[in-house]
Amino acid sequence: MEQILQSTPNGMYCAAGDFYVDPRLPVARAVVTHAHSDHARWGCESYLAAKPGENLLRLRMSSDARFEFLPYGDAITVGGVRVSFHPAGHILGSAQVRLEVRGHVVLVTGDYKLGLDPTCDAWEPVTCHSMITESTFGLPIYRWQPQEMVFESINEWWRRCREEGKCCLLYGYAVGKSQRLLAGLDPTIGKIYCHGAVEKGIGAYRRSGIALPETTYVGSISGKHDWRGAMVVAVPSVHGTAWTKRFGRTSTAMASGWMAVRGARRRRSVDRGFVLSDHVDWPSLLTAIDACNPETVWVTHGYSAAVARYLTENGREARVLDGRGRIEGDEDAADAQESTLEGEVQP
Ligand SMILES: [Zn+2]
Ligand SMILES: [Zn+2]
Repeated sequence: MEQILQSTPNGMYCAAGDFYVDPRLPVARAVVTHAHSDHARWGCESYLAAKPGENLLRLRMSSDARFEFLPYGDAITVGGVRVSFHPAGHILGSAQVRLEVRGHVVLVTGDYKLGLDPTCDAWEPVTCHSMITESTFGLPIYRWQPQEMVFESINEWWRRCREEGKCCLLYGYAVGKSQRLLAGLDPTIGKIYCHGAVEKGIGAYRRSGIALPETTYVGSISGKHDWRGAMVVAVPSVHGTAWTKRFGRTSTAMASGWMAVRGARRRRSVDRGFVLSDHVDWPSLLTAIDACNPETVWVTHGYSAAVARYLTENGREARVLDGRGRIEGDEDAADAQESTLEGEVQP
């Protein structure tokens, strides 16, 4: 692994190709796994990413930057490195980066999940020598329900609110989660409205050919409006702000993997918490590692130490990749990582 990728203060650096993978700071050449801001840093001179994520990435990045997009599975040679992108199943266009130098293969998973998601291509296993995996939810307590069950609960909540004459306020991150929520809503229940930051993301999804139900931008409604029975998909940062006053009587809910943690819903002070994550849970993390069957696993971006320890105890060579670890239990920090998007706080 170290011959191909090194951990540096700027992020993971590939000397053979002179580029960074998901750099932490602006660099000349960035290879990025997906459009979330903790992976696709603003201010790089050039970006190389998977083609299905083009619309989302262009939404976030300066138009001065140079972009190159590669379909999933295609390879190009950068310096002496063969680079290709493979579906990660996390959000639209998310990719695992496969780097090959003289027959040695390193896989950087970025964020990924194995469950069903109609808004992006499904995760694919990539055989490799070294696998750098995220571990955001890398503890045995995290086990996701099938998404059909989660959406059944969400639509049931919406039906009940409609009967009670309330407006539903459903919070999800602006890019990825909120579009996945939309795809799972039952539009026969009522009208669906969106916050501005969600609306921007929706546009990129629609332009990329992803089918989503009809939505109306909240900002396009002026004057008195009857919000009873409506579903409003918004970003978490508007919760409790003046922006929500217009909807009258509301029921609020947050959709996130963190809703599995006792206290997270209470701390967010929402009425309902739906456990819906775009990251691997514990069983699928182990499934993915077995499917990619690396000689060495490098764990990052979450519960790195716990995962590395478990893997080692179970006969796999595993190490913590420093730098991207999160302090255990610091959910809000991780929440913030995923929730940041340019302009998210603007209504
Ligand atoms: Zn992400
Ligand atoms: Zn991330």
